[in-house]
Amino acid sequence: MRFVHETFPQRVCFGSGEAAAYLESEIAALGASRVMVIASKREMDTANGIITGLPVVLRHDDVVMHVPVEVASRAREAARNAGVDAIVSIGGGSTTGLAKAVALTTGLPVIAVPTTYAGSEATSVWGLTEGAKKTTGTDPRVLPKVIVYDATLTLSLPVPMSVASGFNALAHCVDAMWGPNADPINAAFAAEGIRALASGLPKIVADPSGLAGREHVLYAAFLSAVAFASAGSGLHHKICHVLGGAYNLPHAQTHATVLPYVLAFNGPAAPEAERRIARAFGTNRAIDGLQDLRRELSAPHALRDYGFTEDAIPAAAEAILPAVPPSNPRPVTAEDLRRLLRAAWEGDDPKSGF
Ligand code: NAD
Repeated sequence: MRFVHETFPQRVCFGSGEAAAYLESEIAALGASRVMVIASKREMDTANGIITGLPVVLRHDDVVMHVPVEVASRAREAARNAGVDAIVSIGGGSTTGLAKAVALTTGLPVIAVPTTYAGSEATSVWGLTEGAKKTTGTDPRVLPKVIVYDATLTLSLPVPMSVASGFNALAHCVDAMWGPNADPINAAFAAEGIRALASGLPKIVADPSGLAGREHVLYAAFLSAVAFASAGSGLHHKICHVLGGAYNLPHAQTHATVLPYVLAFNGPAAPEAERRIARAFGTNRAIDGLQDLRRELSAPHALRDYGFTEDAIPAAAEAILPAVPPSNPRPVTAEDLRRLLRAAWEGDDPKSGF
């Protein structure tokens, strides 16, 4: 074995019903006295319930998916005007993304309280959108100093969104197996993430107001994001990045829909990854484990259901091609991408080959 693995410095506080207490002690430990709370309008009620012990000077609810640059500018200006010394973000990946955008230019420390399974809180990846173009980068300043995981805050996430978001985490795990910096440590995190998702997601569907499934999936969301952040974007994320930015498709649902096609495409050329994923699902073949879970949970099925149109396939394939990582286990042509996107658009059975 020979590899270089970097571990990110973060404190992870995990406990159902503990968010308010964790936030109070973690803000005190940072020595912060002027806190900016970022939460979308829909998330602000949840936020208000857990920030009562904090020295809050600003509540900011101007959150938009994929962080348009003008939204980032407004948040940075608000932070500057209020003289804040720490940010607490409470919400899904869009909210965490806005906090990261503020941290990118101000260096302010972020405490992230995620309420979905997107996993942005455990990566140093930031994203900004200008017009139809999404730009991402990595910067240690945007990595939240502390993550507070409280599964009670995810109870309000509707089941279909919980499933889609859980599959976003699953996509982090699968893509980490062949990302450009894949290594055995990432693979161990990713495999445990798959196992916990496969066990937790059915529990959420069976009992949406129970905490057991929610805790499992939140724990998996962290593992998946750590694996993904370290392994880097593989073929799956490159495809979804283009689809999300250029066609404004919903993030989690796009990941959930595209994943089986990438697994069916790459799996046969990546036997070690295929074995590990299959083992984590407890099935003979990785694709069987993924498809069984998708069927059981009625996971998102076809890109056509989310606003992607058939006539966009050729241009999308051309836009994705230059971004395909050279380390992908299998060479990728524009025709491969067209076939993959067509199958995902239609919702064809990925096991039938495409
Ligand atoms: P989101 O944050 O846009 O949330 C989706 C919807 O769910 C929103 O309307 C939100 O208000 C609502 N919501 C959130 N939590 C809720 C709860 N507990 N109960 C009820 N409603 C709730 O979506 P997302 O999938 O969490 O995040 C997607 C964004 O995150 C994308 O912009 C994506 O690029 C980014 N992302 C970034 C990284 C990274 O490493 N930088 C990783 C994953 C995702």
